[in-house]
Amino acid sequence: MNTKRTRIYEGKAKILYEGPEPGTIIVHYKDDATAFNAQKKAVIDGKGVLNNRISELIFTRLNELGMPTHFLKRLNMREQLVREVEIIPLEVVVRNVAAGSLSKRLGLEEGSALPRSIIEFYYKNDQLGDPMVSEEHITAFNWASPQEIDDIMHMAIRINDFLSGLFLGIGIKLVDFKVEFGRLYENDMVRIVLADEISPDCCRLWDIKTQDKLDKDRFRRDMGGLMEAYQEVARRLGLIIEVEQPERSRPKLVKTD
Ligand code: UDP
Repeated sequence: MNTKRTRIYEGKAKILYEGPEPGTIIVHYKDDATAFNAQKKAVIDGKGVLNNRISELIFTRLNELGMPTHFLKRLNMREQLVREVEIIPLEVVVRNVAAGSLSKRLGLEEGSALPRSIIEFYYKNDQLGDPMVSEEHITAFNWASPQEIDDIMHMAIRINDFLSGLFLGIGIKLVDFKVEFGRLYENDMVRIVLADEISPDCCRLWDIKTQDKLDKDRFRRDMGGLMEAYQEVARRLGLIIEVEQPERSRPKLVKTD
């Protein structure tokens, strides 16, 4: 077996390797957690395994719904095979409820309903701390064309509808999330596809009954219990099979005449 693989890139939470076929990439999910532009770091045992599974489930369902994504298949506990795309340097955030940076920027109480879902764009640049940008900046600096922005916004709304329903069904409110898109080049054609991952690392997920946070805010805000929260999301999504303890068979009375 070929064990030497070519590493293409190592990010904060993932490593990318060359895939087995041209145009494919292997994504390896690490256990590293970072926040505030990597100023805060920790290793959380098992986080990569859970994110790999949760992201697989979401991307598989989106593929089934006809949403173009880079996802091909999960390979093992920590790795998945994806199509190679040219990442558009934007973080696309969709918000349903005020929280995080939006609450701070506009002085909105965390948890207050928004008049409608809001899409925001951030320029992916660690040195600059991912500044928020408008469509004007995106087209002026040629990060994406007006048609591509249009496609991205339509896809972001469809993803939000799907995810909101998926999480509502398991008692979780989808407060907001971040997604990334890429250009897939296929026989003289270019199209926008959903890339990166969707996991509790890049979503805000609140338990509907208790308002408990089941996402990376537990790490950002030093609340503890991150793994338990991610496990709870995985369990409700049906990814962790609960083995019921079989009732211990009691000795039965045997009648002897
Ligand atoms: N987010 C992310 N990566 C980032 C910034 C934000 O995945 O680099 C996600 C975050 O988990 C949340 C949503 O995008 O679900 C909105 O984040 P926000 O702008 O409120 O920033 P934060 O408060 O996390 O700094």
